[in-house]
Amino acid sequence: MALTQRDAERFWRKVQRGNLDECWPWKASRTNAGYGQFGVQGKVVGAHRVAYCLHYGVWPDAARHTCNNPVCCNPRHIIDPTAPRRAPISHLQPMHSQSRHNDAEIRQMRELYARGKATQAQLAQQYGATQPWIGQVVRGECRKKAGGPITAFGRGRRAA
Ligand SMILES: [Zn+2]
Repeated sequence: MALTQRDAERFWRKVQRGNLDECWPWKASRTNAGYGQFGVQGKVVGAHRVAYCLHYGVWPDAARHTCNNPVCCNPRHIIDPTAPRRAPISHLQPMHSQSRHNDAEIRQMRELYARGKATQAQLAQQYGATQPWIGQVVRGECRKKAGGPITAFGRGRRAA
């Protein structure tokens, strides 16, 4: 099965991606056995097979989880026991879950921003987050309990 870029994008939207060494659970429909199901090109296929195919560029004859977690779609946890070890064609990046930042990091972001030491874009890059989320953080719209200085909307835009 040849998957298109659109298939790939649609697929990854249904996967809860974490760090590279974690299991990435499938968020959409599952079989009774717990395997993710993905509808593509008029067929319903195992989500873990799709993950394997997108990562290695080859549709697997068989696909087995090394993590024993049927719902997992982290290609690093999926092998084709009938095939030789393959080199990945995709360079997987962990999807930083923005809730992973601890309170100390949140306070640090707020302080850097409040003192004009960094822009939201710089903070987003530095902390592996999105700029809109950084905006919410520095304005105290989320992670309120983490502490640190809150910058009112429209203030503190100047960076050093
Ligand atoms: Zn896994």
